[in-house]
Amino acid sequence: MCGGMFKLSEGQELDGLPAKLVTWLDGKDDQSPIRPPQATRQEFEHLLHYIYGEWQSPPYPLDYLIAVLKLSSQWDMAQGRAFAVYNLKQIEKDLPPALRLKLGRIYDLDEWLLPAFHALVFTPLVKLTPQDLHWLGLSAYSLVARVREKAEAERKTLAFIPPSMDDIKIPECTRHEQCIKNWNDLWVSKVGKRVLHPNQIFALKFWQIPHVLEKLDLSGIFKKCGEAVVAKALASGAFEREELLVGQAFQYLLLNVPLEDKHIML
Ligand SMILES: [Zn+2]
Repeated sequence: MCGGMFKLSEGQELDGLPAKLVTWLDGKDDQSPIRPPQATRQEFEHLLHYIYGEWQSPPYPLDYLIAVLKLSSQWDMAQGRAFAVYNLKQIEKDLPPALRLKLGRIYDLDEWLLPAFHALVFTPLVKLTPQDLHWLGLSAYSLVARVREKAEAERKTLAFIPPSMDDIKIPECTRHEQCIKNWNDLWVSKVGKRVLHPNQIFALKFWQIPHVLEKLDLSGIFKKCGEAVVAKALASGAFEREELLVGQAFQYLLLNVPLEDKHIML
């Protein structure tokens, strides 16, 4: 790809080698190869291809985009970085959340971070591959596992314990025991079971519950009792807890869980 222009060092990983000044002799022959600092031969070739190669239509290979992102970020090449970021965003949905999180943290792609972390928390742990674990690192993986456990406990509590109707006293209601029973049944069937759906993709998220409550058929409950318990549930802040939990863990990740290594293994 670039053989006609430069002779690259045959060294495998060039990370950690002392950077040396490129002289006019470097790259001229095998005795004086160019040794780009903090770059592998393959990454440097990808960058040269981006700069000097013939234009090719997207989609581009992932390792190519990551190499251009890495080296152009490292060497302040704004156009190369913009090219890589733009094209990575085009294939964003195909990138596993663990990879998005890692790329986002290394290369300051801030808008990827929270959605990727969020997706990881709500991905069943058994579905995380060894590669996901490698991208995450042990500390981030353990944080994700702990948040999942807490979120699971929150879901069970919310599903099995309906917002209480006991303290709602509407003088006109003459069969309040019936209101309480119907409300509890309604909650478990319309909210509880859906929150605990075994497939996370279909499970009702806490933030979606207010929409469900708005459309709930409260016909088995005295109207004012039903309205009062829904209003109480909405005002309790309970449906924000899940997002709050993920948000707090995300902040903890950024502040306290350093990246274990910056190498992206594909
Ligand atoms: Zn009632």
